[in-house]
Amino acid sequence: MTDSNGASPARSLTTHDVRDHYNQFAWAYRRYWGDHIHHGLFLTGQEAPGEAQEQMLRYCAARGVVQPGMRVADVGCGHGATANFLAREHSCHVLGLTISEKQLKLARRLCRGLDGTTKFELADAEAYAFPASSFDVIWNMESSEHFFDKAAYFRKVRAAIKPGGTLMVAAWTGSMRSPLVRNIAQVFLCPELWTTAEYVKQIESAGLRVLSSEQLASEVVRTWDLAAEQIRRSRWLLSILPAQFREFARGVDLMREGFHSGQLTYSVIVAARG
Ligand code: SAH
Repeated sequence: MTDSNGASPARSLTTHDVRDHYNQFAWAYRRYWGDHIHHGLFLTGQEAPGEAQEQMLRYCAARGVVQPGMRVADVGCGHGATANFLAREHSCHVLGLTISEKQLKLARRLCRGLDGTTKFELADAEAYAFPASSFDVIWNMESSEHFFDKAAYFRKVRAAIKPGGTLMVAAWTGSMRSPLVRNIAQVFLCPELWTTAEYVKQIESAGLRVLSSEQLASEVVRTWDLAAEQIRRSRWLLSILPAQFREFARGVDLMREGFHSGQLTYSVIVAARG
């Protein structure tokens, strides 16, 4: 089997593998990255990791046209930290979807006390029946990489966005023609990564109008430099953990190489339903 780029998928990945990964890694992500499972935006290089992650959220919220009181679908919501942030800082009403039972529990716990402004559901976003014209913003932060049919997903969520509403996609981007990018996709359980141009093309084909598309690299790579330092300090722990954790540690170096070599970028794409 080959994908649209003629590259062979590394192995037959399933949605269950993705779910198992996030169930199994929940404690490790929380311990090393906190409740945000996404890149930090390091503009000065002096930011603490959590501060850089919130900075990334502010950056994306500003581009994604998030306004007070909006209804947001956070697709692939992780531990609920983005929903928590959007509800607290922007008074948004957030529906978070995750494929992982463990994340669902953590997200509900994190957002307890937010007066019903957040709601979480266990769902495979690719199979989820999004209600029509219901969201001001569909927010995909570092989740679309895991989707098996991204083009179909974008066609589906277009109908779920209110007229005038937006789709915000923050994603790891690179060409599957690159062996390094294919390797990254395999280690991090992504059926395939796309380039920014591929995202833009498919989002437009889905009937949305791309308002902005930006590529970051040097501003986010520190996330992995810090992870590499943590791994160096935890070598002993890594040696006794299951093999998947060592595979993740290998992925940290691949990510650094990807960003430093220019083969990988971090794209923030915003599109509107006209
Ligand atoms: N957006 C969060 C988490 C990113 S990690 C953050 O920024 O912190 C990737 C997320 O995508 C995880 O929550 C995982 O459960 C979710 N995910 C991956 N495939 C999914 C699918 N098919 N349906 C729903 N969620 C999915």
